[in-house]
Order: sequence, then C-alpha cells, then structure tokens
Amino acid sequence: MALKQYQQKRNFASSPEPKGDEAKARKRRKGKKPFFCVQKHLASHLHYDLRLEHHGVLLSWAVPKGPSLDPSVKRFAAQVEDHPVEYGTFEGVIPEGYGAGIVMLWDSGTWTAESPDVDAALAKGDLKFTLDGYKLKGSWVLVRTRGYARPGELSKKPSWLLIKHRDEWSGDVDITEFAPLSVKSGDDFPAIVAAQDPALWPTPRRPATGETGAMLQKIIEQAAELKLAELHQQETPSSPRKRRGRKPVV
Ligand code: MN
Repeated sequence: MALKQYQQKRNFASSPEPKGDEAKARKRRKGKKPFFCVQKHLASHLHYDLRLEHHGVLLSWAVPKGPSLDPSVKRFAAQVEDHPVEYGTFEGVIPEGYGAGIVMLWDSGTWTAESPDVDAALAKGDLKFTLDGYKLKGSWVLVRTRGYARPGELSKKPSWLLIKHRDEWSGDVDITEFAPLSVKSGDDFPAIVAAQDPALWPTPRRPATGETGAMLQKIIEQAAELKLAELHQQETPSSPRKRRGRKPVV
C-alpha cells in the first residue's frame, strides 16, 4: 500500500493531517483531471512540497529552494513518501511529531503528464509534465539523478531535479518571492498560525538557533501580535470588523 509509509510516520491522534484512503480516493477522483499542489512547509527547514496526483495518491517531492521559473536553474527535489489525495488541500499547524511546523497551500491546480505512461516515466527517472496552477504553469520536468545522499532530514531519499522548460510561462521572476502567500486563505505563515488555537502553536526552541529557529520565532511573535489585535478588535465592536489576516491571494 502506497500510503503505508506516510501513515507509519504519523500519530493521527495528535496530528491534524488526514490519514487517507487510496482506494476511496481513486474512486472519488475517477474521470477528474489529476490534481497538483505545492505546500510551503516550515519544519526543521523551510521547503516546498510538490505533489502530483497519480493512482489515488499524491506523488511527493520536497524542494528545499522551491520551484524556479528560470529554465537554466535546476532545483534539487528529494522524492518523499506518497501522500493522501486529501492532504493536497491541507493548510495549518502540525503541533508535534513528523513534519512538525507550519504548512501553507502555496499553489494548487491540475497537471497533465506529457508522456503517455507516468509509471514508465517515473521508473525511467524522466517525468515531463504540464502544470495549470495559480502560480505555476506550463511545461516542467523532473529528472532523477544518481545521488541519494543529502544532509539532514532529506537523507537517503531518491534525488531528482525540478526544471522549468522554456515556454510562455518561464522567466526570471523569483516566484517564491513574488507570490509568497497561500492560495487557500491568502494568509502568510503568521496568519496561518494565528488562525489556530494557541495551545497548538509550534514552540520555537529558546534561544532560537539557526535560520529556521529565528524564522519560526519571528512568525510566532507576529502571530501573537495578530491574535492581540484581533482580541482588541473584539473589545471595540464599533470599529469596522476586518477579517483576520486577509490579504490578496498572491
Ligand atoms: Mn514537507
């Protein structure tokens, strides 16, 4: 079962992530265009999880630097365990355990394989595909490299490169900088955290060490400010009610 590894790594009593059911997902998704998403995930390191729906699961790659629209840039992508289709719309805080941190639905849409046989393309290590998302569009390729080793959490995972093909959707805009927000809520990381019960907020180690620690600490501080502002607004009902953290989608 393709979701076995995913389910073994998680405790669904304490994680808000979906458990998933491959057979049900296949049935439900029959005849629909395959889904894709990219989830921006601040865990032990910030990365972008690219997920492509295939046979009732989401094939998944963790891309530390995120996708690049520049065809001359090859982005390292570690293939990770298949995820449930239901995971593709998940956004929120994973309070503890595997992947603990913050997940943002950074892009979503549909994808089309350019090769007729996806399984053969995966086995060959050369999957060409077209994305139709809010932020990512056009032709891309995932090419498997011979390497496996990678320091930290991505060790021993098959290593691939994610590359944009030259087309009308390629260019030199840094898409992760240009469009950093959620396509689901319009939120940034602090607003995603602020939307959760503070009891479930991630707790940055003190003192915050490294780039990720500092980033998480800043996000928690900003989330606390948002929460305070929200409480303050509730105390003064005469002021026009603004929806928390609502920002343009991209
Ligand atoms: Mn991840």
